[in-house]
Amino acid sequence: MNEAIIVGGGIGGLAAAIALQKSGSVGRIQVLEQAAEFGELGAGVQLAPNALRALQALGVYEGIDRYAVYPRRLVMMDAVTGSFITALDVGAPFRERFGMPYLLMHRGDLLRMLIDRAKQFDAIELRSAVHVTGVEPDGSGARVVAATGEDLRGDLVVGADGLRSVVRTCLLGDARPVSGGCVAYRGTVPFDHVASIADGDDVLLWVGPGMHLVQYPIRRGELYNQVVTFRSERHSPDDDWGTEDELDERFAAACDAVRAGVDLIDRGRRWKLVDRDPVDSWVRGRIALIGDAAHPMVQYVGQGAAQTLEDAVSLSAAVGAEPDLDTALARYQRERVPRASRVQGMARRFGEVLHAGGMAATMRDRLLTSRSHADYSEIEWLYG
Ligand SMILES: Cc1cc2nc3c(=O)[nH]c(=O)nc-3n(C[C@H](O)[C@H](O)[C@H](O)COP(=O)(O)OP(=O)(O)OC[C@H]3O[C@@H](n4cnc5c(N)ncnc54)[C@H](O)[C@@H]3O)c2cc1C
Repeated sequence: MNEAIIVGGGIGGLAAAIALQKSGSVGRIQVLEQAAEFGELGAGVQLAPNALRALQALGVYEGIDRYAVYPRRLVMMDAVTGSFITALDVGAPFRERFGMPYLLMHRGDLLRMLIDRAKQFDAIELRSAVHVTGVEPDGSGARVVAATGEDLRGDLVVGADGLRSVVRTCLLGDARPVSGGCVAYRGTVPFDHVASIADGDDVLLWVGPGMHLVQYPIRRGELYNQVVTFRSERHSPDDDWGTEDELDERFAAACDAVRAGVDLIDRGRRWKLVDRDPVDSWVRGRIALIGDAAHPMVQYVGQGAAQTLEDAVSLSAAVGAEPDLDTALARYQRERVPRASRVQGMARRFGEVLHAGGMAATMRDRLLTSRSHADYSEIEWLYG
């Protein structure tokens, strides 16, 4: 039986471990996570039907009701005037169309479900506080070197180490991720504290020139999740941009509802948003990339985790179906690269649509206002 080493114990690493265990072709699976403990504080995550189908394949869908909120609509509003632009009905017609709901949850709860599932299998060993410093192909397998001094060998190594992946650097040697000059602040507040300004039924997407705010309830409605994003006019190679002061300046012209949300956002940490251009190759020898290590994307279409989960399921299906690992990895790459690359491009373009100003914004709103709320034609290929 093959042995696998997975670098990174986030959504992708844990999903890959569970999936590979299910493939029946991998014996021992070690998941190496650099953090002192597995888990995530994080904030909310939106999960579309394609993500939920992948969770179902991993055996992590049952019981999700304990944590989930099922919104009625995804609503786009004008962040400056406060007026309604359009909505996507994600209630009954959506479920009927895609056979799955659209749900919202806390990232920590999703991680918890994946960890609990992984722990059900003796073959999976979750190892925290192991920072991987390098990987390289080694005959019919690959070597993994860790800062602990360990030198491990697996028949298969999966790089699930996220946006600034060490495994990717070893494989592709490509440059740093690309910044489009946008920065995000995110956090949750108890729903009771925001009940007067919050919407407990919908995902609200407030869009304005160079900025947007996303708000939705999570954890059965106990918490309200907010992500505020803006394009910094002070973007530079230095670190001093996208600061709190700039956040307040950028949203000064926003309507009252948006400013009330921005006032409540956690300012303790900011995320400089980065992605990369798609690449054709995620595999070298017996080393394969998944998740943000393979296809980092801006979060605007809420598909980073979804594509990561799809990777895990696809990798496992390929490894289970092909007796030869090299053929399996080639198949995985063939199946996943075109789709994930398309989503990476879509995320960038959607950011431009969200952040449009002037005439472009007027045209966007005019086009969107007339569309049916149950028109799923644009997302059919992604969720279907
Ligand atoms: C603001 C924001 C909102 C988002 N909202 C959504 C959403 O609504 N829906 C959605 O689908 N996606 C969303 N995403 C994207 C999603 O969070 C990511 O795509 C997803 O977490 C990728 O999972 P991953 O396992 O590949 O990487 P990560 O979650 O980054 O996990 C990587 C893991 O590897 C570990 N690691 C890193 N380096 C090493 C090393 N050298 N050695 C050992 N361990 C290492 C890290 O500690 C981490 O635990 C959002 C992202 C952002 C920034």
